[in-house]
Amino acid sequence: MRYISTRGGMPPKPFSEILMSGLSPDGGLAMPESYPRVNADELERWRGLSYPALAYEIISRFIDDIPAHDLRGIINQTYTVDAFGDAEITPLKTLEPGLYILGLSNGPTLAFKDIAMQFLGNLFEYTLEKTGKELNILGATSGDTGSSAEYAMRGKHSIRVFMLSPLGKMSRFQTAQMFSLQDENIFNIAVRGVFDDCQDIVKAVSNDHDFKLNHQIGTVNSINWARIVAQIVYYFKGYFAATRSNDEQVSFSVPSGNFGNICAGHVARMMGLPIKQLILATNENDVLDEFFRTGVYRPRTTTETKHTSSPSMDISKASNFERFIFDLTGRNAEKIKELWGAVDNGAAFDLTSTPLWDKVKDFGLVSGSSNHAARITTIRTIYQKYNILVDTHTADGLKVGLEHRQPDVPLICLETALPVKFAESITEAIGHEPERPAGFENLEDLPQRSVVKDADTNAIKAFIKEQTT
Ligand SMILES: *Cc1c(COP(=O)(O)O)cnc(C)c1O
Repeated sequence: MRYISTRGGMPPKPFSEILMSGLSPDGGLAMPESYPRVNADELERWRGLSYPALAYEIISRFIDDIPAHDLRGIINQTYTVDAFGDAEITPLKTLEPGLYILGLSNGPTLAFKDIAMQFLGNLFEYTLEKTGKELNILGATSGDTGSSAEYAMRGKHSIRVFMLSPLGKMSRFQTAQMFSLQDENIFNIAVRGVFDDCQDIVKAVSNDHDFKLNHQIGTVNSINWARIVAQIVYYFKGYFAATRSNDEQVSFSVPSGNFGNICAGHVARMMGLPIKQLILATNENDVLDEFFRTGVYRPRTTTETKHTSSPSMDISKASNFERFIFDLTGRNAEKIKELWGAVDNGAAFDLTSTPLWDKVKDFGLVSGSSNHAARITTIRTIYQKYNILVDTHTADGLKVGLEHRQPDVPLICLETALPVKFAESITEAIGHEPERPAGFENLEDLPQRSVVKDADTNAIKAFIKEQTT
């Protein structure tokens, strides 16, 4: 399996050469040259596999330049009862016949990002050990991504994490989750500013090519292809858990932001998993819903981006969306260059007057959006009806999923975080706080470790330099 760029400017490369990179040199995203197809016999065999065994079957189709024995080891080391609290890793909960929630949030930070990030941590460590290199991960976070990355990389050899977050702007729970890590390779940097200041600093440092090279700076953002690959696995796992035979179809509803999670569903479908609909749910930041309703993709400015009660979906543009459009155009890199030529300059594109718009329906993608009132009502209704408590993001997925639900097609709603992370909205919905999972009872009382810096690129660079030399 080799990888190309959505913008056509990268010679085909093996997986290990795209693992650590973010964007391709031409500004595009890495994509496999073609999707591996799963035949009926394989699908039948996979039905009975444990999560790690299934993960190996799927991941090894995309990562074929790590020896089989080593790759199996990395996967077995990642998907353990110890890390995910359940031998199923992603257990399926039945609300009623034909309606399910796929539990993706039982990892160490209680959000679905752990499923890919825990794998990435072990994969990075393995690769760095082989090459004798070091990696300094620089990131900006307003919550989930940062903690997920830190819990995946803590204690890993040859890796340090420098995570910027806006001082005093994260919830107490999220702050405690990150800042209570005492591992010496984790650096929490609270920046006097807002999230966008943090993100600007990461961009500025990444654009300083000398600094980046001299200090082995890397990122773990959602465009990393290995993260997408790891997420494909639970679409198969969820499908097998909700069906009895492989001639059945299911639909998935996916709370979406950067289009990473649902992109994995799209790939699973392209591989041959019988998915009827991929239902994309947004919150008030409805840039993706707008596209699937109107054919117009118009990224928002940061001032247009709203702060919502499902904050991990507060995005202005969807970084993985280019991957889907690449497939929609029949993998036409020239067309992607043209479309993203506009997008990268803050402009919109409109597919309605092109033959492409008609093709969208062939990919099974439909969409809808949610808002605070609908979210709270959904949390309350699901709790009253099924005695199951969902978080705000999962509620958006359920709300939109139910609107698109078809008779006789099982609907699997992806759970992307646990309610305990968003206690305020839960209390608003059901009148009391969510229960804390074991081990999180005194999180906010644990000693915390962080440094405070001005929103100044040079100050951050100086800090990184101090810690790495
Ligand atoms: C990251 C995140 C999402 C959005 O996922 P994408 O892959 O960016 O579409 C949804 N819910 C939660 C809780 C998240 O952390």
